[in-house]
Amino acid sequence: MRFTSYMDIALEEARAAAARGETPVGAVLVDPATGSVIARAGNRTRELSDPTAHAEILVLREACAARGSERLPGLDLWVTLEPCPMCAAAISFARIARLYYGAHDPKSGGVEQGPRVFSHPQAHHVPDVYPGLEEAACSALLREFFAGLRPG
Ligand SMILES: [Zn+2]
Repeated sequence: MRFTSYMDIALEEARAAAARGETPVGAVLVDPATGSVIARAGNRTRELSDPTAHAEILVLREACAARGSERLPGLDLWVTLEPCPMCAAAISFARIARLYYGAHDPKSGGVEQGPRVFSHPQAHHVPDVYPGLEEAACSALLREFFAGLRPG
């Protein structure tokens, strides 16, 4: 199977989130067997007044609702930023096969930092994790967004 990156789509969603005044994080759920995009989203925590409306949660919810199942075995998730502990736990619950992410998140990440959710004995399902994909583009977007928020 040919390897295709879906990070460009995740980045598009992150840019659209920034344009809405949301933290620029984007996520894409892909079925690697067919190459089809199952769901794509950017953060909507402000718009929805919902602290759980992270890009990853939104795509998991959409795909689970469409399938009528709380599990998505065999699907791959692409995210522009290292998932937080909440999203990492949801990724484990959803039985996602592979997690690809861009920027590392020392402040709020939960995969390689902080709680390291997938290394925890309570993680009953652990996806294959591929960090650092298009990391420069993913972190530049976040840096620019937060620089723009700074007064002066
Ligand atoms: Zn999250």
